Amino acid sequence: MRLTYTSDVWWKNAVVYCLDVETYADGNGDGIGDFAGLTQHVDHLDRLGVTCIWLMPFFPTPDRDDGYDITDFYSVDPKLGTLGEFVEFVRTANDRGIRVIADLVVNHTSDEHPWFKEARSSRDSPMRDWYIWSDTPEPDDPKSVVFPDKEDSLWQYDEGSGQYYYHRFYRFQPDLNVANPEVRDEIARILGFWMQLGMSGFRVDAVPFLVEDVSKDEPAGEKKDAQAAGKAGKNKGRDGGGHKLPEVHDFLRDLRAFMNRRDGTAMLLGEVNLPYPDLMKYFGENLGDEVTMCFDFIGMQRMYLAMARGDAAPLAEALRERPVPPRDSHWATFVRNHDELTLDKLTDDERQEVFDSFGPDKDMQLYGRGLRRRLPPMVDGDPRRMKMVYSLLFSLPGTPVLFYGEEIGMGENLKAEGRQAVRTPMQWTPHRNGGFSTAEPSTFPNPVVEGEFGPEHVNVSAQRRDPDSLLMWITTLVERYRECPELAWGEYKVLDTGESRVLAHRADIEGETVVALHNFADEKVSFELTLDGLDDGKVLTDLLVDGTVELSKTGVARFDLEPYGCRWLRASTPELAPS
Ligand code: MG
Repeated sequence: MRLTYTSDVWWKNAVVYCLDVETYADGNGDGIGDFAGLTQHVDHLDRLGVTCIWLMPFFPTPDRDDGYDITDFYSVDPKLGTLGEFVEFVRTANDRGIRVIADLVVNHTSDEHPWFKEARSSRDSPMRDWYIWSDTPEPDDPKSVVFPDKEDSLWQYDEGSGQYYYHRFYRFQPDLNVANPEVRDEIARILGFWMQLGMSGFRVDAVPFLVEDVSKDEPAGEKKDAQAAGKAGKNKGRDGGGHKLPEVHDFLRDLRAFMNRRDGTAMLLGEVNLPYPDLMKYFGENLGDEVTMCFDFIGMQRMYLAMARGDAAPLAEALRERPVPPRDSHWATFVRNHDELTLDKLTDDERQEVFDSFGPDKDMQLYGRGLRRRLPPMVDGDPRRMKMVYSLLFSLPGTPVLFYGEEIGMGENLKAEGRQAVRTPMQWTPHRNGGFSTAEPSTFPNPVVEGEFGPEHVNVSAQRRDPDSLLMWITTLVERYRECPELAWGEYKVLDTGESRVLAHRADIEGETVVALHNFADEKVSFELTLDGLDDGKVLTDLLVDGTVELSKTGVARFDLEPYGCRWLRASTPELAPS
């Protein structure tokens, strides 16, 4: 491996960890997590092996959409600390070799943002066309409303100025008008500001919604993407202030180029939940000059379907059909993110199968398309299933992204509203409030998890001392993943085992091979695997437990996998032939 190359493209073998400062650790005892508390826990992330922290929005906000409604892009929410404490945190993380990326939410602002207040003050306001206005919007396609439980339209009437403004998300989040070059310049300035303060990149929220063609007549945007994303793409009467809407890919390419002029190693992690052929365009097709990494929403959803069925076939199929990203670009893989666990790319019947297995109660579901649960309660806390799923996460092609609390198997609290169910306080100790805060729980952003998955049973400090804990298992997986360049840099292939309950895949680079096996069923399975090119006296050495498997002269090996068993094996030539 060429070292210079691998460290430049650091995201390809990164371990990304997403957290919300507000719910992670409260350093000043006011009931709200903050940068001071987070800084005290950076060593937990270092021990886990995290190489990149992704901060959910930490900007000033009225907090009507958990911080995604921003009133100032150039500051830290006073509830979470000061800009000085933010810089101390970044410095501490960097000191442990951990990079930091931030959520870039530039699709919209809060309606309390000074820009919007100015824009709505009059039709002649100099900031009027920083937003999208219309006298007569066409009726909405109900399918295009992102939060159908809260909103029934994409347009909101503004009494004061007598026009409608466009909002892809909530009505209190007016969309910015990226057709306006002033807005695009401002977005670049926001990136530049946080890069100057040490950010190594950005997770870009809602990428396909960034540039929306809400006009029938303007020839901008990507109609095909628009349809795939469920965009209306037909609303008439947009007042773009005479600006031509940029093509979404031109906009992303400009943003990426700007960012990489400032720092060649900075990356964009895109939230693009589209079918693979549409999604590939956001990588910049073959050039790879747009979003650096895209989340694999399809693979994630197929993984849950495979788990529900006890059959690896749906995931194997997704991996076989998943395109290879351009050079230097990469997939980002995940088990759970901060939103509802969306199942929108499954068929209705498939989604129902997953609901039946993992979230049968209506209260566990959200928007009719997802689950507001975490994995451990879904599998009744079965440690075999949890360990198998995380083994998959770290061995599948793509950069693993953990959501805080996954490393210890936290559950959800369904008493919290909507998506907040999985944004509960981090569980550090078995003591009061799980060690999150010394304040009264009524002051917390979200209630602590109760019952079987609450802090008394699930916490960092106990698992740190238990070699059989999920925390130690995931720490081991992180180490092995980082030790296996095949997994991050190699070429992947899903293997045929003739046993559909098992997912078998291999990763190869420069003559080195790692094979991973995962049993999705609650039964022991035995099968034979033919490993092409590995028939010259090589053995397979277990990377997670002690043991070796011999290959026949023709590269065939026999395996027995325990129920929900998993194995990682590296092919090597023994110095002494096995007797
Ligand atoms: Mg605090």
